[in-house]
Amino acid sequence: EAAINRIAAGEVVERPASAVKELVENALDAGARRVEVTIADGGKTLIRVADDGHGIAAGDLPLALSRHATSKIDGTDLLNIHSFGFRGEALPSLGAVGRLTITSRVAGDAAAEIAVSGGTIAPVKPAALSAGTVVELRDLFYATPARLKFLRSNRAETQAITDVVKRLAMAEPGVGFTLRDTSGGGEGRVTFRAEPETGDMFDALRGRLTRIMGREFTENALPIDATREGFTLTGFAALPTYSRGAAVAQFFFVNGRPVRDKQLIGALRGAYADFLSRDRHPAAALFLTCDPHLVDVNVHPAKSEVRFREPGIVRGLIVSTLRHALAGAGH
Ligand code: ADP
Ligand code: MG
Repeated sequence: EAAINRIAAGEVVERPASAVKELVENALDAGARRVEVTIADGGKTLIRVADDGHGIAAGDLPLALSRHATSKIDGTDLLNIHSFGFRGEALPSLGAVGRLTITSRVAGDAAAEIAVSGGTIAPVKPAALSAGTVVELRDLFYATPARLKFLRSNRAETQAITDVVKRLAMAEPGVGFTLRDTSGGGEGRVTFRAEPETGDMFDALRGRLTRIMGREFTENALPIDATREGFTLTGFAALPTYSRGAAVAQFFFVNGRPVRDKQLIGALRGAYADFLSRDRHPAAALFLTCDPHLVDVNVHPAKSEVRFREPGIVRGLIVSTLRHALAGAGH
């Protein structure tokens, strides 16, 4: 049983960055306004995610660790999902592949914690925490050395974690994010920080993108806002004259979730077809929203592929909207 659980867990948690993704998504689902991520050694020895969300009641802590327990859907409409999580797999998986401690406090209650290591759950006990939830994962994959061996260098794993945090920070401009690396010991150093953005949706997004992609990008990007046949495309797309050299800066979000999808990247390239060269890639952060029934964003729990019911409409919307915007700006 324990071995099977570990194998299943490995499907959800491939590497430290996937653990960070699951934990930050949980914080966002809990309505956090601030999320603080702390890592050490590329997340291999420590991943800690602290949030100021609604917390988990002491009595619900064991439930949060049991497989397929989720507080987020009632099972009647699996396709109609508005939260990041819905499978109830992340915490049990993390508890199977590392040493996991969850400390949480619901407003008006006392704080409590639960620990699980190698799948063995300790009883809930009182803890000290002013608000929200802190999930700490130590020694990821300590029980599966084969898996540990496949992880990349601390530097590469840290980069993957940074990418995950930045993508989620783009998806939620109103939430403050901090990424701290304590590899050197002590308080460590903050490697990424984004204060909560205010203003309307475009202002907030512009602010957040400036923080993450740089002022060069936002000063050379066109705001995008178009709707067609149930799909809405918003965000910013850079002028063809903006260049990050060979660095690729293409970010897609479907119904608020960061995705990496060949079709979407292909549509972006299609829109910029006249301006592409070997060292010039289109740069954009684009948010596609639609009825959840028109897209499956959960083809695989650990990956970020999407499957559209009508891929042609999506491609057409992206290509024509961006071409129109570029033409309007004289390109
Ligand atoms: P899912 O997110 O798919 O529901 P998880 O295993 O990630 O499954 O989490 C299990 C449950 O634990 C969630 O449904 C939620 O009720 C609770 N939970 C997890 N993390 C947090 C958090 N940071 N704040 C509040 N509740 C949380
Ligand atoms: Mg989750």
